[in-house]
Amino acid sequence: MQGFNMGRYRPYDSDPRKESFNSLVGKHPLGDRARKLDQGILIVRFELPFNVWCDGCKNHIGQGVRYNAEKKKVGSYLSTPIWSFRCKCHLCSNWFEVRTDPQNTRYVVESGARQQNQEWDADANGSFSIELGDAGPSSSKAEAPKDPFAALEKANKDKTQAKTSADRIAELEEFSESRWSDPYTLNSTLRRQLRKEKRALIREGEADDAVRKRIGWTNDFPLAKEDEGTRDQAMQAWRQEKGKQREENAKFKFDRDKLSLGLATPRNTVPRCGERARPSSSLSASAIAVRGPSKPTHKRSATGSPAQQLAAKLASNTRRRRDPFLQVVRDSVSRK
Ligand SMILES: [Zn+2]
Repeated sequence: MQGFNMGRYRPYDSDPRKESFNSLVGKHPLGDRARKLDQGILIVRFELPFNVWCDGCKNHIGQGVRYNAEKKKVGSYLSTPIWSFRCKCHLCSNWFEVRTDPQNTRYVVESGARQQNQEWDADANGSFSIELGDAGPSSSKAEAPKDPFAALEKANKDKTQAKTSADRIAELEEFSESRWSDPYTLNSTLRRQLRKEKRALIREGEADDAVRKRIGWTNDFPLAKEDEGTRDQAMQAWRQEKGKQREENAKFKFDRDKLSLGLATPRNTVPRCGERARPSSSLSASAIAVRGPSKPTHKRSATGSPAQQLAAKLASNTRRRRDPFLQVVRDSVSRK
């Protein structure tokens, strides 16, 4: 049934703004379910909350079977209405009635059937049952067994249970007392601890900000938490860096000494590709070589023609080759 008006006929002189279709055809909005509304009965779909035996056919009807039940208000407990659900057995013509029991928050069979008692035993399942003060006549707990031996057994069982429960209750009371005997002290301790943590957090944040400002980091870069591990790690990294720097310095000094003794030309001391230049010094290797205590013959002449410079260099090289004293010094340096 699709489309305009859903296939229902509405006369041309009726106004849908003033008159609904249900009132036009004389039907209740709930349809056939409201056919007994004049008796206070509404037909609802009701699902059996427990297993029952029908009194008419003596058949067992399982929990969850659904009926079109007649729902009716039959009374009230305080301000809560008590509803009755009257169902017709699907296996015979017998009617049975189930009612709500607001006092015990459960359903009870009122007539026409017998409820199968399948109460969940909380104590047997390692849990605690909540005992209501006045369970009412429908409660199975309130009913005493008719057999005297069974009654005696039940009484003994109840006594044992009361004893164990008393121990447990005392235990719980003691625990509660230990925690809540002095709420003022507890509260002040908690608040003091919170204040302390807050102060520490603020202090840490300020220190971090100072560090970030010093090294030029923005707030997007998180700083590592300072503890034993990170401190050791940082110390190790610093030592490695320091050792590397010391090695470079030693190498640089060695090269400078070689230069000053005239055992190397300044071009050799220029760092090769991939090598690190000495970071701490702003002077280039050649500049230091010039500043060092070298012989005046090694100083590159700023004046003179290229031919004169070449002649001077050749003379110095030849002299270095032939001079036995220079040879001894060079050997001692290379042996180091
Ligand atoms: Zn039946």
